Amino acid sequence: MIDESEWRRRVYQANMDLVRLGLVLFTWGNASAVDRERGVVWIKPSGVDYARLGPDDIVPVSLADGSVLAGTLRPSSDTPTHLELYRAWPQLGGIVHTHSEYATAVAQAGVPIPILGSTHADYFAGDIPVTRQLTQEEVEREYEANTGKVIIERFARSGLDPVSMPGVLVDQHGPFAWGITVEQAVLHAGTLEHLARMYGHASALGVRLRLIPRHLLNKHYQRKHGPRAYYGQAKP
Ligand SMILES: [Zn+2]
Repeated sequence: MIDESEWRRRVYQANMDLVRLGLVLFTWGNASAVDRERGVVWIKPSGVDYARLGPDDIVPVSLADGSVLAGTLRPSSDTPTHLELYRAWPQLGGIVHTHSEYATAVAQAGVPIPILGSTHADYFAGDIPVTRQLTQEEVEREYEANTGKVIIERFARSGLDPVSMPGVLVDQHGPFAWGITVEQAVLHAGTLEHLARMYGHASALGVRLRLIPRHLLNKHYQRKHGPRAYYGQAKP
């Protein structure tokens, strides 16, 4: 079982990696991990400057009821969104939310990121979806929890699997990404930003964009993630 200091260290490192990768400006981002055995979500504190952040500042929150389990810092204001996703999708081990520039630009346009090439297909098995807008009532009452609910609703509507589609754009807001671990959630958040940037560049060429053919999509996704994956080194 992973001990408390290790959870703190990993979630601290994931949050710092968001800054290192250029995904976060000021305090506009948060990463969390869930300890399923203990029912604890470890998440960045709200509004704390990254330069002052340390592993001891990472806040433990109850997965069941959202209560703070130790310390005096308040958890990220987006914590209810993380809790909704962890409760709905038991496969998730980590979640990242940022306002990274290109992914947020596409989210503000309210369109999905179309799957145009093999870089995309390596990590996301289709167009990266965009949610519907939240209603006025959803924004005014439990806004952050409702943000999680519209993400879950979007995936249910299209029968999407959160493992093969590890991210989403929330309409007129920004990206959420996740993974089996918090480290994988960071990887997917960085990849999503890169794909949004490439979509912007491809659109600027002024030519008709083409979706990747199904056989090339399947080849790239399956060679990394399928039952007969052969990308990278064999696992010991
Ligand atoms: Zn946000």
